[in-house]
Amino acid sequence: MRSYSLIAPAKINLYLEIIGDRPDNYHELAMILQSISLADQIDIRAIRIETIIIRCEHPLVPPDLGNIAYRAAYLLSQEFPDALARYGGIEITIHKNIPVAAGLAGGSANAAAVLVGLDLMWELGLTQGELQQLGAKLGSDVPFCVSGGTALATGRGEILSPLPNLNHLYVVLAKYKDISISTPWAYRTYRQKLAHTYISDSESQENSRQRVNSGPMVSAIAHRDNIEIGKLLHNDLEKIVLPEYPQLLKLREAFASQSVLGTMMSGSGPTIFALTESQAQAEEVEAAVKGEMANPNLEFWIAELNSNGITVAN
Ligand code: ATP
Repeated sequence: MRSYSLIAPAKINLYLEIIGDRPDNYHELAMILQSISLADQIDIRAIRIETIIIRCEHPLVPPDLGNIAYRAAYLLSQEFPDALARYGGIEITIHKNIPVAAGLAGGSANAAAVLVGLDLMWELGLTQGELQQLGAKLGSDVPFCVSGGTALATGRGEILSPLPNLNHLYVVLAKYKDISISTPWAYRTYRQKLAHTYISDSESQENSRQRVNSGPMVSAIAHRDNIEIGKLLHNDLEKIVLPEYPQLLKLREAFASQSVLGTMMSGSGPTIFALTESQAQAEEVEAAVKGEMANPNLEFWIAELNSNGITVAN
């Protein structure tokens, strides 16, 4: 086929622990990542001229090399120059539903969709593992976005171990339109303020990873213990972001006062989410928090937790 439509789900973090520093200047992390039904649609199409074109109507999404979806297509064109010559250039149309710079890995999901889509369109026959290895060159969340579901992510976030899926739960997400947070800023500030807590030797780092791997959150997920999952939500970056943005703390408190399993900031924020056991409950929570906050700049979404990575829509 000369065109594909792909569904690229957002992710939330159920757990994010910063273990320490790495020689490559990234952070050593232990995270539990979860894909959700809020998703972008990415259309890719072969075009005659050997170039990469990005189309997206969202004002914050760059149309050029600044776009991680562009970089995904460029990477594959460099790795497989024969395919580019044989199939021509690529037009990528991004239909944005995932809020931008929101801690939901929207850009990473778009890049993962381009890798999966081009693999199909160019008949490369790459395995999921090979696509994830390529994805890791583009960004730490890209490998997870390829496979999705529920997973423990260590290293920079690119080393994945699948966990049992949680697709019986729902999430209400809320984000202020006028707040965007840069992920590099959040990690840089964390380092400035909390580097003294870092574990640096490799044996202790491995112990920390094992502690998460055999710890209470992974056990709660394995037992589908919704109450425990809600209680054990954890995100170290909240220590940096919430004091800086009191509105987010207030929003989190508004969710916490409702009948939810738990509430937390996703990734580096500013999206705050709350887990619920049903869609009806999610709708009630959304209505209550919307009423309480009464702020036209606050946007809400309801999504299911799902086990989907990138899927083909056509
Ligand atoms: P993460 O959770 O992986 O840190 P995020 O959800 O916080 O990411 P993104 O929505 O991926 O953030 O956007 C981060 C930045 O990347 C934005 O400033 C945006 O301009 C830029 N960007 C580049 N490509 C894209 C894309 N395809 N979609 C969204 N943003 C993109």
